[in-house]
Formats: sequence, structure tokens, C-alpha cells
Amino acid sequence: MKLWFLGTGAAGCRNKSESEIQGDERRCASLLVDQNVLVDVSRQSFDFLTKLGGDPSCVTDVLLSHSHEDHFCRDALLQYANVSNGRLRLWCHRGAVVHLGLTEEDLQRIDLRLVEVCDCWQIGDMTVTALPANHMAEELTDPETPLHYILEKDGKKLFYGCDGGWYTAIEWEYLMRKRVTLDGVIMDSTVGEDTGNFRIATHNNLAMLEILILALRQNGRISSDTKLIATHIARSCHSNEKPLEEVFADLGMITARDGLEIEL
Ligand SMILES: [Zn+2]
Ligand SMILES: [Zn+2]
Repeated sequence: MKLWFLGTGAAGCRNKSESEIQGDERRCASLLVDQNVLVDVSRQSFDFLTKLGGDPSCVTDVLLSHSHEDHFCRDALLQYANVSNGRLRLWCHRGAVVHLGLTEEDLQRIDLRLVEVCDCWQIGDMTVTALPANHMAEELTDPETPLHYILEKDGKKLFYGCDGGWYTAIEWEYLMRKRVTLDGVIMDSTVGEDTGNFRIATHNNLAMLEILILALRQNGRISSDTKLIATHIARSCHSNEKPLEEVFADLGMITARDGLEIEL
């Protein structure tokens, strides 16, 4: 399973086009898996993939974690739909639809597939499972449940955990009851050292990541061979005392950066 990170930042650049991204600014969340499955479609996703020499017409399916602007951009979705060889499938929680702003005309080009928590389905030879994330939609009464995904293909399993802090009870139950052993874990690493940031309700800080990794290991869900990848990083939450790569390496993690490719 090949992972190609098209955006590894938190929400900071959600309104910037690809041409407005400067220096080491991180684009917003988007990950291409094996050329055809895109997880989250941020504003810069299509243009950055094209810039890197990728072929966006190969994308057949978009998995949406949730509708926040740093994970979903209608214009970028339509860019993919416009070059797709078929009708682009968009998988999202049923409660997300009201936030997507898709018109009847858009839906001529996009095959909308509504997902419930714990649904499991096939995309070719990939098996996808949707689990409920510890994250907030827009409002307390919002019907959207943000999702995490487990992707399985060729004997490899990847957990995609953005956005979300400590895993939900349902996620832990699923991982334990199904005895899931993970080859890769993509972790929300938004908050840095900060414990006084309210975002720790819905994102991880470094102390939380350390405990989460330990818990996954001690419960047998990851091994020393599992690739642990830190992404969705809000640079402003991390101090400049130590390079990010070293901070995450101390936790046994790889630091994702825009354009990074990883083979599981
Ligand atoms: Zn979010
Ligand atoms: Zn986010």
C-alpha cells in the first residue's frame, strides 16, 4: 500500500490556493492511497498532486473523514470529478452531506455514497471500515459523525485517524474484538506541547500521543514494525525548541510532510 501525503497541516491554510502556499507551510489534509483512493480533499489537493506529477484522473474514490474546511473543499472535489474517467465516488457520513454544498449538477458527476458508523465495504481489492472519531462536527446537535478509516489491502492494514483525539470506545472495541493488527497508523498530531489548548478535546497533544502509542502497543494492536505517522500538525502549537522530526522521532513516529511517500 503506497501512501502519498498531499497535505499534512491543520486548518491554518484552509483558504489558501496552491499558489499561495509559501515556504514550509503545510497544506491541508489529503492523502492519496495507491493512486486511486483519496482520503480527504482539501483546497490544495488536486493542484499539488498535479504539481508533483501525479495523475488525478486515476482517482476513483474519495473517502471523507468529515466536512471541516481543512478536509473538504467542493472546488477541489469537482476538479477531481472533472478529470475522472468514470463518475467519482464520494464516501462520507450521511450527516456530512448538508455541509458539502453539492448541487444537483455536481451530483451528475459525483456518485455520493452515504456511510454509517461501522460500515465496511470494498473499493476494488481494498476493504474500508468506517469508525466514529473523537471529534466534533459543527454544532452539538449536528447529525454528522466525523470518521476514521481502516484500509486493508494486500495483507496490510492502515488506520487513518484525522481528525480526532484519544480513540472512541467503539474504535477500541473494534480494534480489540477484531484483533486488528496495524501496519500503519496515521495520527492526529495537532496540538504539540500545549495542554491549555481547548483543542485537546478533539485532537492529540504530544503527551496524549505518547499514551495512545503505548496503549496500542501494550494491547497488541501495533508492533515495532508498525509505521506511526504524525500528521495534521498545527505548527503554531509546537514550540521551536526542537525540530519537529526529532520531537516525533522521540515518540517512535515518522513526521509527515507534504509530498512524502511511504510504502507500507
Ligand atoms: Zn476537524
Ligand atoms: Zn482538521
